[in-house]
Amino acid sequence: MKVWIDKDNCSGCEACIDACPYNAIQIVEQIAVINEACNGCGACIDSCAQGYILSDAEKEEIKVFDLNEYKGVWIIAEQRNGVLSKNSLELLCCGQMLGKTLGQEVCAVLPGENVIHLTDELAVYGAKKIYLADDKRLMNYQTNTYTNTISGIIAKYKPNIVLFSATHTGRDLAPRIAQRLKTGLTADCTDLTIEKEEKHLLQTRPAFGGNIMATIISPRTRPQMTTIRPGAMKLITQDKDTRVKAPEIIKWKVQLSEEDIKTKILEIVKERHRHANLQDAKIIIGGGRGIKSKEGVKVLEKLTEAIGGEVGGSRVAVEQGWIPRERQIGQTGLSVSPDLFISCGISGSIQHRAGMQNSKIIIAINRDPDAPIFNIADYGIVGDMFEIVPALTKALKDTDYTDKNTDYTINYG
Ligand SMILES: Cc1cc2nc3c(=O)[nH]c(=O)nc-3n(C[C@H](O)[C@H](O)[C@H](O)COP(=O)(O)OP(=O)(O)OC[C@H]3O[C@@H](n4cnc5c(N)ncnc54)[C@H](O)[C@@H]3O)c2cc1C
Ligand code: SF4
Ligand code: SF4
Repeated sequence: MKVWIDKDNCSGCEACIDACPYNAIQIVEQIAVINEACNGCGACIDSCAQGYILSDAEKEEIKVFDLNEYKGVWIIAEQRNGVLSKNSLELLCCGQMLGKTLGQEVCAVLPGENVIHLTDELAVYGAKKIYLADDKRLMNYQTNTYTNTISGIIAKYKPNIVLFSATHTGRDLAPRIAQRLKTGLTADCTDLTIEKEEKHLLQTRPAFGGNIMATIISPRTRPQMTTIRPGAMKLITQDKDTRVKAPEIIKWKVQLSEEDIKTKILEIVKERHRHANLQDAKIIIGGGRGIKSKEGVKVLEKLTEAIGGEVGGSRVAVEQGWIPRERQIGQTGLSVSPDLFISCGISGSIQHRAGMQNSKIIIAINRDPDAPIFNIADYGIVGDMFEIVPALTKALKDTDYTDKNTDYTINYG
């Protein structure tokens, strides 16, 4: 959007200066001037009561929503080849928490072909109603077919909240659906809660390059839509109470015209695994500045040989070139939630913890007893990782886990 000042009329009153978050407005010879820092965000336009800040944006009629019409917390389930993604179950765990606070039911939308068997698993994770869009044209994800189908279901049943995974699919789909429904979308959230008074969804995500955490609300539009980073929400083991015994299955009649199917999938070619499989790993050994060099990575790899798992790292370890970029854990890397995270020579900055604090058990090894990583660790070992990790590796290799009489305490000398 282009924004400019009506120079003939501007009085230089300075009222617009503070409205610009990018310091792009200056007063020069008693007239407001917009400088090159302007990115056309439009935030200043209404600050000039006289209307002397002009733009080429076309005024769009704002749709008015009756917020009371919208009920329920929905998740959009993702499956591939008839297997539900772990992310979809994480969304349901988060949906349960939101649904409980709001007193609203948790539902799932399940698109695909021959996927009715997945309704059981969705019910185990608390889905009370499942909107099933089972059609051969939905066998594989395609932008237009999925957008049309899911927008149709949402428009008819009017949920209050819709959660998507911030996967490639979710990131492609959610903005298109939001645009169709003329509602808001907050991408890449790491935390969701409900505001106490108006019960709006508080959507927290990193902003300004990760330097602050911003909390965003959609007070006027519905549904409130959000994508959530895989691993950012805890996958909670379900018990009998949360399981829905007889979920209501609503079969959606998929209506797609030739016009809707703009692309045809001719072949699916599986890409060779470029990325480390950290997000599915049950055990992760994390290395930070304390590993000191690529040799330090070998020490961690030896530990994985003893107990399995994958090696990941802090941003420092990645920037030093010791650990590949796709294995960075944290706010600007991956969010992981393994059963066991062994942190070696990592201080535990807030940005790093954002990506691993949902791990079930955290063991921290650091020679500084005041390192912040110890604040979230279940077990902490203060000492030099170059002594502790090899000792741990040796002890694990030597241990016979089948012997119930063995004391598994490791002696570091
Ligand atoms: C916008 C933004 C986004 C960021 N995103 C990320 C991110 O995604 N992931 C991330 O990790 N960081 C991220 N960071 C960087 C983050 O702030 C920290 O700088 C980084 O996590 C520190 O990495 P570290 O813990 O490896 O190093 P340090 O903070 O330097 O800590 C090294 C630790 O190793 C210990 N140590 C040293 N030698 C040994 C030894 N021999 N044995 C045992 N312990 C030892 C030290 O006591 C120290 O606690 C981000 C920063 C910003 C501003
Ligand atoms: S608020 Fe309007 S009149 Fe005042 S300086 Fe800005 S553009 Fe000019
Ligand atoms: S459009 Fe945005 S960046 Fe440009 S001057 Fe106005 S507030 Fe500042």
